Amino acid sequence: MSQDSDGGMIRMHQYLLGRDDDNFVWDDATRERDGDWTDPVREAGLDERKHKVFHHSNKEYLNPPTPFVQKDQLGQSGSTIVYKVLSPVGHTYSRPLALKIIQCKDKHGPPGPESNVRKLALEEVRNMTTIRHPHIVVYVASFEDYCIKTKKIRQRRGKALAVYHPREQIKAHILGIAMYPPAQCNLQVFMIEANRTSLPDEAWMLEFMHTYFGCLAQAVAYLHKSGVQIRHKDIKPENVVIDEFGLPVLTDFGLAKHFETGQPSNGPTDKTLKYADPDSIEETERDERSDIFSLGCVYLEMATVILGKPAMFAEEQLVDDTAASGSRDSGEGREFKYSESLDRLDEYLATLSRSARDELLAVKPGREASVNAVLKVLPHIRGMMQKDYHERPYAHQLYPRFRSLYNIYDLPGPCVSCEEERRTGIRSWPRAASPTVFRSSTMNSAMFQLVRRTSMPSSPVTSSPISQSPTDIEADER
Ligand SMILES: [Zn+2]
Repeated sequence: MSQDSDGGMIRMHQYLLGRDDDNFVWDDATRERDGDWTDPVREAGLDERKHKVFHHSNKEYLNPPTPFVQKDQLGQSGSTIVYKVLSPVGHTYSRPLALKIIQCKDKHGPPGPESNVRKLALEEVRNMTTIRHPHIVVYVASFEDYCIKTKKIRQRRGKALAVYHPREQIKAHILGIAMYPPAQCNLQVFMIEANRTSLPDEAWMLEFMHTYFGCLAQAVAYLHKSGVQIRHKDIKPENVVIDEFGLPVLTDFGLAKHFETGQPSNGPTDKTLKYADPDSIEETERDERSDIFSLGCVYLEMATVILGKPAMFAEEQLVDDTAASGSRDSGEGREFKYSESLDRLDEYLATLSRSARDELLAVKPGREASVNAVLKVLPHIRGMMQKDYHERPYAHQLYPRFRSLYNIYDLPGPCVSCEEERRTGIRSWPRAASPTVFRSSTMNSAMFQLVRRTSMPSSPVTSSPISQSPTDIEADER
């Protein structure tokens, strides 16, 4: 658990102010400089010193590129895997990073420089390069690696003269995005653990969650502000990671889209439906307040946990049993969606409030201030989950409604980054240089250990190569 100033984990605002990501330098020797692969990188407006394209012919393929040393797997979803990586000793840049590896497999065509998956991945990278906020992962660098399979085609010319022509074929292609910070766990896991713990040592998890409302509001307000204008489009507890210091960081811009103010979008989207707003599901007109609905669902789960119930309690109470059993789909396999349960939301909030007052406070009277504060913000959460997006607040209106929750516990107390933003307006870090000395709310080592214990969906430490898809092997055919 190194916390030294060079090489260990540092807080997000320090990372941004120190421009640590600028210190990352790729080993340039084998970078591709021209051609079909680098043109789209230029077109996407990416810095070629930060985004490197290289390839391997045949066999040895898809180990993490220099300078990364692969450590634990942090998470996986679909064809995307996130690893924690370190730099080798002696490398100029030495902080731990999260490395997200996207397998660029196209449904409709072979991998290649023009594949659609690649276009989307490059857009994700481009979106990330424009984002700098203490509650959003920072883009550090990215790379692509593709594997060429060489086939030697035998052609006969004249009598017995056989000529071999090599024919190259792209067999596999990955795009990796290195980000800071690597997660300790995600909010979904954190909420399960926070609800389950009863040890006094672990009470900090519930206490820290009070700050997450304001911090996430500021992260989304930053994304939506003019000059950034990015819709995340997939806000959910799994996409909020908790860093080493117990603070929330929004991640995964795989579905994010740049938008122009006043331009509603319509058409299909590929997001998680549980937290999606009704307009995204029905693919009707919507604006950036789709994100507000999803964030409202996340807040509802956090409020549920603080009020003494597991996050799943919301779903269990809101799910429409009659609809599930009456439909062709049996309840099993039918995905719960908050947007389909809005008729029952007021009733749920009443149930939750009642149980907090009658059950939780009966056994834990010490939680009274917390319970009262959270009950006070329930109407604001309800407002975020309005069916009609015109009735939802904008992200920049959220912080004042939730910041009072900071006052309940001493730690972590008011979030320094967010409070500074409130005073100065949300800005891009660290362009407006800040001489402020940040009062750090320290986590003690018990907290660290717990965060470690609750690390990501239990995945063993792995030293396997980044990918072992069948196409990577047996490349050297004849
Ligand atoms: Zn904050």
